[in-house]
Amino acid sequence: MALIVQKFGGTSVADCERIKNVVRRVIATKKKGNDMVVVLSAMAGQTNHLISLAQEMQEFPHPREMDVLLSTGEQVTIALFCMAAREMGVEAVSFLGHQIPIRTDDAHTRARIEDIDAEKLKAVLKEGQIAVVAGFQGVTGTGDITTLGRGGSDTTAVAVAVALDANLCEIFTDVDGVYSTDPNICATARKLDRISYEEMLEMASLGAKVLEIRSVEFAMRYAMPLHVRSSFTDTPGTMVVKEDATMENILVSGVTYSRDEARITISKVPDRPGIAAAIFRPISDAGMVVDMIIQNARAGDLTDMTFTVPRADYRQTMELVKRVASKIGAENVAGDDSIAKVSIVGVGMRNHSGVAGRMFEILASHGINVLMISTSEIKISCVIEEKFTELAVRALHDGFELDKGPAT
Ligand code: ASP
Ligand code: MG
Repeated sequence: MALIVQKFGGTSVADCERIKNVVRRVIATKKKGNDMVVVLSAMAGQTNHLISLAQEMQEFPHPREMDVLLSTGEQVTIALFCMAAREMGVEAVSFLGHQIPIRTDDAHTRARIEDIDAEKLKAVLKEGQIAVVAGFQGVTGTGDITTLGRGGSDTTAVAVAVALDANLCEIFTDVDGVYSTDPNICATARKLDRISYEEMLEMASLGAKVLEIRSVEFAMRYAMPLHVRSSFTDTPGTMVVKEDATMENILVSGVTYSRDEARITISKVPDRPGIAAAIFRPISDAGMVVDMIIQNARAGDLTDMTFTVPRADYRQTMELVKRVASKIGAENVAGDDSIAKVSIVGVGMRNHSGVAGRMFEILASHGINVLMISTSEIKISCVIEEKFTELAVRALHDGFELDKGPAT
């Protein structure tokens, strides 16, 4: 007997039939003797629909009113869930964020959870009822409704699980788990049975869109085990857990990629203290986030600086950098927005060498030129020409034999 939080995403509650299926599933788990807390998203497409309505009213919708509007999507699904459950003879009680309350800061449309009062949920569970919580929403200290940012229901689920000291938080979605790479690109991609929080964070931020990043950070901080699985099948999904000794030897768990990249090079910059600050300060002041940075020495007192930014920020960053370049006496600014980043992720890289060399060999053997490299403890990323993205992903997946399981 355990306390389980189950979260269902928009496609799992897209219509009444699907909601009834979700209810059956929850009841089945409850009948095994578990206490059940359910967190729901809005029906698929509903949040987007609400956003488009808002935009018909105001070019930049007022953030407080936006949250009043967006939070309605989840209000619909939790109520329908509870009705369906009662029709099936099981008592379920719905809760909006402010009824619990789930307290957040006042950053409307991207609020952060500060505190959850678990008492009402516990009381419902004690009565043998199912507690059903609206995802994605909370309330400020002064009673204003907030939302947590797109995909925020995952975070609600993990936060509720932590507040209740649940045994497990299950995230039901439209894929059956976390894959070794994107199955749309690589037919031999394999569902991972287990992955560490750290690897999941690297995979998520690199483009594997299964879980909202913030929810993984939250789960990691409180060591809440996550189970990512499909709401359309009964097969087990992927467990996202604390790293343990058995994971130490995993050199590569997955291959990820991002096409959302652009590269800018400033060449022949006078090499003196303050140059990097002069270049990057205006970029960050403009709210743009630089990812990789490489500085190369040249003969004489000159240096080249190359860095990447999200592709959406490319034009604006180029403008900024051109202005700065003339001020600091750089010779040239060049850019390229048809690049991509491919990465390999694995906790075992921490203690083993040779993984990077192997990655470069694999790319080279397919004629793929590496334009930039960056590494972290458990990740190696290479920037390549965008047209090679799919080839690179497949080559790395094959090269590390990830179709047979994580590379050791
Ligand atoms: N309904 C919200 C969204 O579409 C929250 C969520 O589904 O996680 O972003
Ligand atoms: Mg989601």
